[in-house]
Amino acid sequence: MNLEGKVAIVTGASRGIGRAIAFGLAKEGAKVAFCHLDDPQAEATLSEINGVSEGLSISADVSDEHAVIDFFDAVQTKFGAIDILVNNAGILHEAPLADTLVSDFDRVISVNLRGSFLTTREFSRRTTKGRIINIASDLGVLGRENMVAYTASKGGIISLTRTLALELAPDILVNAIAPGSTETDMTSPQSMSPQALAKDLNTPLARFGQPEEIADMAVFLAGPKSQFITGQCFGVNGGSVMH
Ligand code: NAP
Repeated sequence: MNLEGKVAIVTGASRGIGRAIAFGLAKEGAKVAFCHLDDPQAEATLSEINGVSEGLSISADVSDEHAVIDFFDAVQTKFGAIDILVNNAGILHEAPLADTLVSDFDRVISVNLRGSFLTTREFSRRTTKGRIINIASDLGVLGRENMVAYTASKGGIISLTRTLALELAPDILVNAIAPGSTETDMTSPQSMSPQALAKDLNTPLARFGQPEEIADMAVFLAGPKSQFITGQCFGVNGGSVMH
């Protein structure tokens, strides 16, 4: 097991991609703490983690400075020093620019971008050697009509990754994953328009990813075989973006 003795935090891991990452890290031996807002599925995720390692589930809003500090305090009290941070919590808002309210824009930026800033700052204050993995999106590179706040937040996360890879080197490695469309609640017909979902399928591999396919990259970036990698953004996206 590659992560035996390590402690990881995954934000927004009650379901979806975060859940798969949390479980993937736990399977490699890490103790995994995660947060969510108020998701009843968190209990099942915690049991899954406890089945292979040790977990901690806490309700904390990543956009709230004090909630983030309390969350990190609770993790340190239970598990000790934190080695790995995965900034995964995110929300989507789809609407034409003219119909996007300031409150919609602010909420998406607060959770997706400010949240990553707050957790990363807290991590850097407490950790001298570790890994940060930011979950961006292929749309942060490509752009997408009717998703102004979301794409701006994800572009910001890629930029944040590069800056912090410089600033926190050499002891903290900072990388991003930019997933393509992945089968979760975020890509359900309740969350996205049929037009957006159709666009998401228009890739060389012509399918959605599975959360575990994103988690495999996160586990690699948290582990011993990625020690010479920092400041990168990895597309796990079925070919939607090619560099
Ligand atoms: P999801 O299924 O909607 O899950 C989102 C998770 O984030 C839930 O656990 C949710 O918990 C939590 N969360 C939301 N707001 C939060 C907040 N303010 N504080 C703490 N936790 C919060 O989403 P997903 O599809 O797994 O997406 C995970 C990440 O991958 C996001 O950053 C997303 O932008 C990115 N991504 C997803 C796709 C995709 O196609 N699915 C593609 C590219 C990138 P609650 O329910 O309690 O709020």
